[in-house]
Amino acid sequence: MQLRPGMSAIVTGGASGIGRALVLALAREGIFITIIDFADEKGREVASLVEKEASKLHTGLELPAAMFIKCDVTDSNELAAAFDKHVAIYGGLDICITCAGIGSPVSFYEDRTDGSKSWRRTIAINLVAVIDSTRLAIQAMQEAKKPGVIINVGSASGLFPLYNDPIYSGSKGGVVIFTRSLALYRRQGIRINVLCPEFVQTEMASKVDPKIINLTGGFMPMEMVVKGAFELIQNESKAGSCLWISNKRGYEYWPTPGEEEKYRRHPKNLKRNSSILTPLNIQVPHSFEKIVVHTLSHDFRSATSVVQASLKLPLQPDYVLLKIIYAGVNASDVNFSSGRYFSGSNKDSVSVLPFDAGFEAVGVIAAIGNSVKHLKVGTPAAIMTFGSYAEFTVVHARHILSVERPDPEVVAMLTSGLTASIALEKAAQIDTGKTVLVTAAAGGTGQFAVQLAKLAGNKVIATCGGKDKAELLKDLGVDRAIDYKAENIKTVLKEEFPKGVDIVYESVGGEMFDLCLNALATYGRLVVIGMISQYQGEHGWKPRNYTGLCEKLLARSQTVAGFFLIQYSNLWQEHLNKLMDLHYSGKLKVAVDPKQFLGVHSVANAVDYLHSGKSIGKVVVCIDPNFSHQAAKL
Ligand code: NAP
Repeated sequence: MQLRPGMSAIVTGGASGIGRALVLALAREGIFITIIDFADEKGREVASLVEKEASKLHTGLELPAAMFIKCDVTDSNELAAAFDKHVAIYGGLDICITCAGIGSPVSFYEDRTDGSKSWRRTIAINLVAVIDSTRLAIQAMQEAKKPGVIINVGSASGLFPLYNDPIYSGSKGGVVIFTRSLALYRRQGIRINVLCPEFVQTEMASKVDPKIINLTGGFMPMEMVVKGAFELIQNESKAGSCLWISNKRGYEYWPTPGEEEKYRRHPKNLKRNSSILTPLNIQVPHSFEKIVVHTLSHDFRSATSVVQASLKLPLQPDYVLLKIIYAGVNASDVNFSSGRYFSGSNKDSVSVLPFDAGFEAVGVIAAIGNSVKHLKVGTPAAIMTFGSYAEFTVVHARHILSVERPDPEVVAMLTSGLTASIALEKAAQIDTGKTVLVTAAAGGTGQFAVQLAKLAGNKVIATCGGKDKAELLKDLGVDRAIDYKAENIKTVLKEEFPKGVDIVYESVGGEMFDLCLNALATYGRLVVIGMISQYQGEHGWKPRNYTGLCEKLLARSQTVAGFFLIQYSNLWQEHLNKLMDLHYSGKLKVAVDPKQFLGVHSVANAVDYLHSGKSIGKVVVCIDPNFSHQAAKL
């Protein structure tokens, strides 16, 4: 999330210590802030400092730069009223930082009271109020239907025991694991993270034995904590993440990937679930929004618009109404909007205007026609038919693919996963012990191709543009990731694979195709999956000539094979089941790009993003953020 003047934040415990520092840092970015704290005088003082800061920025915005609300965070009614007031004044909530916290007033070892004024109070402020605040913030963000970030301030004592204050340590440990368990809210655009600093020089820390503080290397600078919080706000890939900040190790996400792998519960033991969802409350409206192509153009944004369509019920006997939760974004969305998928002349394509856009989605069956006996309302389902960029779609029952869950990972398995799975088997005729080269390998379909080729027992080389993408590819098990921004692909292939490659899964086209063809070994097979680099040329798609192609192929008994998924629809369900089995048994990872696209109106942004070359993994649009939350519980 990019911080912009005019956004708003709530900071509990914002009157002093870390909370105060965060309030002032956000104020410097022009953020409107509500400070919720028990300390009246200090709270007002911080609010006036924010006002002063805001006057320097001259944003021209008329709202109060800061509001102080005196509130005991353990009083849930007072707390809810404070959140309501913030939303009423600022019209929503972009950031919530829960910072209110105390150390234990009485040592646990010496406490002979009933605990109501000692350890119960610490747990009530440090943990219960954090849970309450998080719930209120989620609610405010859901109602505003805008992305939001929540940061719960934990402590390094939530990761490692603080022997002299087990109650404090326990409360912060609770905050850490509570927050990490909320990672799935990212699907609604709400990222909830926990910040775990070691000792910072605040009033609270002044009560801690200096020997303990010295053991950690002394107090850490407040700026480090502020920087850590900003990282969690701005880094869109962080959700359910725990950032540990220490003097000795700096910033470290906890657990590290290595630690996580050691203890991860592999989903193979989780029960597969296919006939669920009766608890979901699907409201079928009279009309819904969808994207139509009104003008043929490879510029998706100018080719399309969002329109209101009416829903005609009852459905025809063999039809199904699907409520769409996630839709997948594909490189070919721009080919479709340019009319390239309609055979014949440009005149033929124009005659089909306007037509519905979007190729694939997952959702829940919302209604069925009288003759549909094998499907149930409330069941998760996928489609790979046109018209998926919509809140609802009506499809013939034969187009329904059965899926385990309506998740973004399952959307990725549709066009992207199936292309890799079927193309490798049918067009590449993949075997074992071969060298396989995959281009655009960190993209939607590339990520599946590299893993399936590895699982089949091959050596895999993968190309991508960027360090983060190369990291992902290594994580997916690739033997040699070539980041073309840092290395020359041709040189690497020549030096490290002088015998050439046996199979190429090629989807970039243009010069990349030439390069791959030149790297092909004798008997090699190059599968043309696509040519993304050519889709949006200045004057549209210009077919290329390949002079000498026949001679080249003949001389080395090579094959260039084309692959188009639409022609293999008879294999979709079988391969989808295979992909789901691999995924749920922990053998196949599915990378979904962390950037949030929410609602039908965000589709054009998502298509542009895919073509920007910056995306990693599958780009997905969450069509209904509220409903996705219900579905995530399944
Ligand atoms: P994707 O791979 O997620 O596309 C994004 C990636 O493509 C980018 O991260 C970038 O990767 C690369 N890229 C984007 N714009 C580019 C440009 N102008 N020049 C060069 N590289 C560019 O997209 P996808 O939907 O999965 O599709 C990938 C390819 O598979 C496309 O060619 C698509 O048409 C094809 N496809 C074919 C079928 C079929 O049935 N044949 C089905 C699905 C997809 P790097 O820069 O990191 O390489």
